[in-house]
Amino acid sequence: CLRAQLASPIGHLSSKIAISFLFQRILMRTSRFFLATLKEAPSDAEVISHQLMVRAGMIKRLAGGIYTWMPLGLRVLRKVERIVREEMDRAGAIELSMPAVQPAELWQESGRWEKYGPELLRCKDRHQRDFVIGPTHEEVITDVVRKDVKSYRQLPLHFYQVQVKFRDEIRPRFGIMRGREFLMKDGYSFHTSFEDLQREYRNMFETYTRIFTRLGLKFRAVAADTGSIGGTGSHEFHVLADSGEDALAYCPDSDFAANVELAEALAPAVARPAAAETMQKVATPGRITCADVAEFLGLPLIRTVKVIAIVLNPEAAEAESPGPLAMILLRGDHNLNEVKAAKHLGEFRFAREDEIIAALGCQPGYLGPVAVGEVAIYVDRSVAVMGDFVCGANEAGYHLTGVNFGRDITAPTLVADFRNVVAGDPSPDGKGCLELCRGVEVGHIFQLRTKYAEALKCSFLDESGQSKIMEMGCYGIGVTRIVGAAIEQGHDQRGICFPAAIAPFEVCIVPMGYAKSETVKAAADALYAELGGAGIDVLLDDRNERPGVMFAEMELIGIPHRVVVGDRGLAEGKLEYKGRGDSESQMLPLAEIGPFLKARLCAAP
Ligand code: ATP
Ligand code: MG
Repeated sequence: CLRAQLASPIGHLSSKIAISFLFQRILMRTSRFFLATLKEAPSDAEVISHQLMVRAGMIKRLAGGIYTWMPLGLRVLRKVERIVREEMDRAGAIELSMPAVQPAELWQESGRWEKYGPELLRCKDRHQRDFVIGPTHEEVITDVVRKDVKSYRQLPLHFYQVQVKFRDEIRPRFGIMRGREFLMKDGYSFHTSFEDLQREYRNMFETYTRIFTRLGLKFRAVAADTGSIGGTGSHEFHVLADSGEDALAYCPDSDFAANVELAEALAPAVARPAAAETMQKVATPGRITCADVAEFLGLPLIRTVKVIAIVLNPEAAEAESPGPLAMILLRGDHNLNEVKAAKHLGEFRFAREDEIIAALGCQPGYLGPVAVGEVAIYVDRSVAVMGDFVCGANEAGYHLTGVNFGRDITAPTLVADFRNVVAGDPSPDGKGCLELCRGVEVGHIFQLRTKYAEALKCSFLDESGQSKIMEMGCYGIGVTRIVGAAIEQGHDQRGICFPAAIAPFEVCIVPMGYAKSETVKAAADALYAELGGAGIDVLLDDRNERPGVMFAEMELIGIPHRVVVGDRGLAEGKLEYKGRGDSESQMLPLAEIGPFLKARLCAAP
C-alpha cells in the first residue's frame, strides 16, 4: 500500500519531498476550500444522483446537459480518471490527446457525416468549412495511424485518451449521466489479425473488470448490441442500479448476461394447437389496450395479440405519402424490441394515425391481422404458436376472438424474434431461466474489425510485403457517468455514500470548538498532519459551525470516515470515529486512530 510506504521512511530526504508534495495535494481545510451545499434539490432533477450532486455542490448547470464541475465534484472525477489511467497504462495502452474539433472531411470519408444524425454537433469556421465537435474519435485515430504506421512491425498498438466529448443528445437528463458534454476514456487498438484483436479485447475485458472493481462499484458485464459504432462482438459494463436506463437479462445458473436489446427470446418449444373456436366479432367499446380487452372478455392477457403498425424504409416512404404500412404482431403481455426489429426489417418508424386509417380504415387500438390485403405481417415467435387468440377487428369498438393462423390469416411475411425477453424466459444458452435487472452503462468495448480501417484505407505491409487492412477494436468508459452511477448505487437519506476510492476526501476531522478550545485545536491539527503525512486524503472542518451542521454536510458530500475531536473525549485520551455506513460511533484511543484509518483505507477496494 502506497500509504504505508510513504508513512514509514519519514527521515529520508526523498520521502520528505514526496510528502510535502502530498501535503499540498491532499490536506485541505474547509475554510480554504469551496463547499457550496444546498438544502433543496433542483426541481428538474429526476434521479437521486442528480439531486445529490447538485445539493452537495459538485456540479452546476450551465445549459441543458452541460455542467461546470465544481471543486468538490472535480476531486471525485479526477480520482475516477486516475484509476482508469493507471489500469489502462498497466494494460499496455498508450495515452495521447486528440482534438475535440474535427474536420468534416474525415467524417465524410467514413460515411458518418450522413449517418450520425442530429446527435453530431456540426459547425463552420470563418472560411465556411464544416467541422464537428467530436462525439467519438474513430475517424481521427484511424487518420493518425494510417499516416504513421506502415509495417506489421509497428503493430499491435493501443492508443487512449481521457477527453471531452459532445453529443447533442435528444433528451439530456439525469444530470451528468446523460449529458451533452461529458468526459470519456476512449481507446482504440490496431492489429495485424483478428486473433490479435481478440487477444486485446480479452485484455480490455479484464482491464475494465479491474477498473470497476477498484472503483468499488457493483457491476455486471453483458453482451451488447453494436449500435451506430458498428463492428462485431461487443460487451457493455453496467453499474447495477434500479434507476438505470438499460434493462439487463442474466441467468443465475450460467454465465449468460446480455443487454435486453440483444438477449434472444427463444422460440417456444411447443407446436401451434389446432383451431378449436370459430372466429367471432365481439363489441369491445372503449377497450383499446390488450390488458383492457382481456379484462373485459374475462380472458388471460396471454391470449391476446397486439399490432404495432410501422412504415418500413421511412425515407423512401415519405415520397409516396402516406407510406406503405406493415404490422408486427406481439403477444399482449410482450413488448417490441426495436433493435431486433431493425435487424430483421431494416430502418422503420411507427406509423402515424393518418397512415393507419388510410391503410386499414380503422384508428389505432382496434387493429388486427385478419383480411388486411397487401399489408406485410411480421410475427413474433411467441405469437406464431398461438391458437384461438384475440386481436382487433380493424373496426372501431370491435375485436375478434378465436382467431387462427392458416384459417383466418394469410401466411406471415416473416416469423422472428421481435420482443424483449421477460423474467422467466428460458436462457438462450439452455441452462436455466432469465432474470432481469437494471443498469447504468459505464463502459463499452467493441471489436470494430475493419469497418473504419477499410473506409479510411488504414493498411500495413505484412511479413511478405503485402498490403493489408488493419483490424481495430475500440473501448469506451463514461468517466463522468461513473460519478453519477456510483451515487445511484451508494446513497442514503442523509446523502452520498461514496466508495473510499473515489470519495472527494477519505477522512474528515470535525473538531468541537476549534476556535474555542486550544486542546481541541492542537489535537485536530496534529491528527490532520499525521493523516496527511500518511498519504490520507483528509479534510479538516475548521469552520465554527454547529456540530449538527458540520456532520450533516460531511455526510451529504459522502466522506466515508469521520473523526470527531472534542474536549470530553480528549480528557480520556480518546477520539470519536464513525464510518459513513455505521449506525453507531465508537471511541478510539488517540494513538490508535491513525493505524485504524490506514488499515480501513488499505482494505477498501
Ligand atoms: P448510451 O447507450 O448510454 O447512449 P452509447 O452506447 O452511446 O451510450 P458509447 O458510444 O459506447 O455510448 O460511449 C462510451 C461510454 O460513454 C458509454 O458506455 C457511456 O458510459 C458514456 N456515455 C455515452 N453517452 C453519454 C452521455 N450522453 N453522457 C455521459 N456519458 C455518456
Ligand atoms: Mg448514445
